[in-house]
Amino acid sequence: MTPKNTAITVAYGDGIGPEIMEATLHVLKKAGAAIDIEEIEIGEKVYLAGNTSGIRPEAWESLRRTKVFLKAPITTPQGGGVKSLNVTIRKTLGLYANVRPCRAYAPFVRTNYPKMDVVIIRENEEDLYAGIEHQQTDEVVQCLKLISRPGCEKIVRYAFEYAKARGRKKITCFTKDNIMKLTDGLFHKVFDEVAAEYPEITTEHMIVDIGMAKMAVAPDRFDIVLAPNLYGDIISDVAAEVSGSVGLAGSANIGDHGAMFEAVHGSAPDIAGKNIANPSGLLLSAVKMLAHIGQGDIAERIHNAWLRTIEDGIHTVDIYSEEKSRLRVGTSLFAEAVIERLGQTPQLFDPAHYSNETLHLTPYKRKAPAKKELLGVDVFLNWRGDAEQLAGKLQAATTTGLKLSMITNRGVKVWPEGFPETFCTDHWRCRFMPDSSTTIEQAQIVSLLDSVSRAELEFIKIETLCAFDGRPSFSLGQGQ
Ligand code: NAD
Repeated sequence: MTPKNTAITVAYGDGIGPEIMEATLHVLKKAGAAIDIEEIEIGEKVYLAGNTSGIRPEAWESLRRTKVFLKAPITTPQGGGVKSLNVTIRKTLGLYANVRPCRAYAPFVRTNYPKMDVVIIRENEEDLYAGIEHQQTDEVVQCLKLISRPGCEKIVRYAFEYAKARGRKKITCFTKDNIMKLTDGLFHKVFDEVAAEYPEITTEHMIVDIGMAKMAVAPDRFDIVLAPNLYGDIISDVAAEVSGSVGLAGSANIGDHGAMFEAVHGSAPDIAGKNIANPSGLLLSAVKMLAHIGQGDIAERIHNAWLRTIEDGIHTVDIYSEEKSRLRVGTSLFAEAVIERLGQTPQLFDPAHYSNETLHLTPYKRKAPAKKELLGVDVFLNWRGDAEQLAGKLQAATTTGLKLSMITNRGVKVWPEGFPETFCTDHWRCRFMPDSSTTIEQAQIVSLLDSVSRAELEFIKIETLCAFDGRPSFSLGQGQ
């Protein structure tokens, strides 16, 4: 019986996007993929037409209808004015898990690490990619790093379920929780909590800087690497390049309500229109898409033909070498070589196997709220002057029950007992704590802001200082 076609949304993207998408769809068609394509236009052309989101409402409609998106890379104009569409799509559709396998294809593709076979699992919705940025003073801009417990739990569980289903043995979690104790600290804590439910999987944690260095010089020591969004983004380019070429790596962005499949690399404007780009990253992403929509047999057929093409030494320029390759081909001839090998299996590599298996993921269950107490407030001010003068003005303006306890500048304590060597900008954090009781009322903050403003000091924002279940949950000043 001929399988019913699955509707998918396709975007040809920018730069090398159209070339590698054409090659990929050609292979899919020849392999018998049962898909109906809805094409949408996104990216550079849409931005340049004045749409700062890079996507039109009818394109959203298609994505929400098909829930499966095969996407070529797009060019994000740099600087202000527009948002990254990749990030917008991932977040709007709730595609929280970004799965990026990077493996070596030795001895056919040159790499220093022939045994490398690592899967990067990157949290895809949070972290600095919340994209909430503000200029607060003449001298200081800010980007908010948001990490949530549901966000951590979803991605950490995904990583363990992925490891279980794919027979992987070890997960290494990368964070920088020696510095970011609350945000990265939460990610690490949730990792440890969930790990306890999967005793059969070995776990370790690495500070991201040394982890990244190890990925560059000893990638074969890793099995799965799990990381918050920004570190995951960087580590997957490093891993793909170390495996042989950034052009080889595909990725799946998975959520509860849809999935997007795209290469790890970008639109490579430097080689666009030359028919030399490697279509493998997008093709391997499309293979994952076929497995996702229940066409594991076609996924296997294409993946095996692709492995055989690599073994036969038919290589695009990014992986071509005199000693390893037999034929240097462009994008379209590479696709033809894969098509010629449909039905064949690799001779040295293990054949690909897709079982149409879905992971057993339980929806996030919201916990009972903790007991929250208000302990104080940080008021951020725009001020040109020194810390002593500022402290004097604030002490004169202070409201009942709240006392200035500390001033920091870019996180370093500068009052009381600051050092004259510390460089100060025009951005000050002024911490107020109760002078007698242990907790404060919201109304006291309102009256504090009123007196600050009447003292002709300009506040930029506040952060409340809270305890959750009795645990103070805010950072100290550096040097405090
Ligand atoms: P890039 O990944 O496009 O290119 C980096 C280098 O790798 C270039 O030298 C390029 O020629 C090479 N390369 C990339 N893909 C290749 C392939 N398939 N075959 C052979 N060589 C390949 O990164 P970039 O230059 O930093 O970014 C270019 C544009 O892509 C930017 O506008 C960026 O915002 C965008 N981008 C988009 C995505 C996406 O759509 N998912 C991801 C990353 C970057």
